[in-house]
Amino acid sequence: MQCREASELVSLRLDVALPPTAEQSLQEHLGECQGCHWEADALARLDLLLSEAPRVSPAPQFAGRVMARIHRRRRWMAVWRGGVVLVLGMIIMAALCLVPLAHPASPVADVLNSPSLVSTLVGVLVRIANLAATLMGAARLVGEAFVGSSGHLFLAGLMALAAGLALIWLRLVGRASMAVGKTS
Ligand SMILES: [Zn+2]
Repeated sequence: MQCREASELVSLRLDVALPPTAEQSLQEHLGECQGCHWEADALARLDLLLSEAPRVSPAPQFAGRVMARIHRRRRWMAVWRGGVVLVLGMIIMAALCLVPLAHPASPVADVLNSPSLVSTLVGVLVRIANLAATLMGAARLVGEAFVGSSGHLFLAGLMALAAGLALIWLRLVGRASMAVGKTS
C-alpha cells in the first residue's frame, strides 16, 4: 500500500466508512510505516478533540434576522434615492414656479403684456410637466420601498403631489389674472 492510499483510508476510518477488508491492510501499513502511523495518531487525537468541543449553533431566528436586515437596508437605499430625486425635483419645481413670479419683471407678467413671450411660458410648463413625471417616479420608488408591493403610500404621495401641483398652479393663475386686472 502506498502512503497516499493509507492517508485516504485513515480519513475514511475516522468517518466510520472504512470496509473491514481495508482496515486489515491499513493496519499492516501503519505497523510498517512510521510516518503514516504518526499521521493516523495525530488525526485521531484531533478528531477526538473536535468531537468533545461544544457545538455552537446559531440562534433559531439568526438567518431570518440577517435577511430582514438586508431587506431593510435595500428598502432604505431605495427610499434615500427616491427622496433625493423628490427633494431635488421639488426645489427645481419651486424655482421654476415661484422665482419668476416673485420678480417684478416676471415672465408671467411679461407674457401677458407681450404675446411673443408665450413660448417662454409654454417651455416652463413643459419643463414642469416633465419634472412632475420624474417626481411621480421618485414618489413611487419611495412608496414601494415603504409598503412593498401594496401601493397605499404611493397613492397618498401621489395625492399630496397632485395637491401641491394644484396649489402651485392656482398661485400661477392667480398672479396671472391679477396681472391681467392691472394691465386692463
Ligand atoms: Zn506510509
